[in-house]
Amino acid sequence: MERTSYTKQQIAEKVAQILTENYFDTPPVDIWKLLDNYGIVIHERTFPLKHASISGFVVFADSDKTAPVFVINKADTDDRKKFTLAHEFGHWVLHKKELMDDPALSVLYKNPIGSQTTDQIEVEANQFAAQLLVPDTMLHAEHEATSAHKKDLARTFKVGEDIIGFRLGLRDDEQQTDEPIQQV
Ligand SMILES: [Zn+2]
Repeated sequence: MERTSYTKQQIAEKVAQILTENYFDTPPVDIWKLLDNYGIVIHERTFPLKHASISGFVVFADSDKTAPVFVINKADTDDRKKFTLAHEFGHWVLHKKELMDDPALSVLYKNPIGSQTTDQIEVEANQFAAQLLVPDTMLHAEHEATSAHKKDLARTFKVGEDIIGFRLGLRDDEQQTDEPIQQV
């Protein structure tokens, strides 16, 4: 099946547009509030043990599939929940048609954000999520205003340090929590 694919730049532009439309201009980005603005319902559920490795997925509350419900794993940390919500929102924004055809593609497993995936849809949703939680413009502003330690940035954006690392393009083995970040 042919589908549109997005470059990193196109994803960043989409995110910037969404943030502007919702008057989000300083960190942290309140993903719960943002999804509420779009009428997206969030259900936190205790997943059965056999599905404990799942962080979340999307279901539809109506047969027209216009009312998405984001179901997330109650057992996850707040940071992880935010990432899951941002990831699923990425699918909703970027892959609406695919999602309506096959909601199962929204199932997100508890893998580290930077873990290798060759699935283009997943790559795009991860890039969208990281960009949404830590947008380019805000990251640049914070980088100039602070010493930009990863830990400080994580606190400012209220996200896990893994998201900051991913946004800064550092691989796991290069991440040095206590070192100032040179490049943004
Ligand atoms: Zn996904």
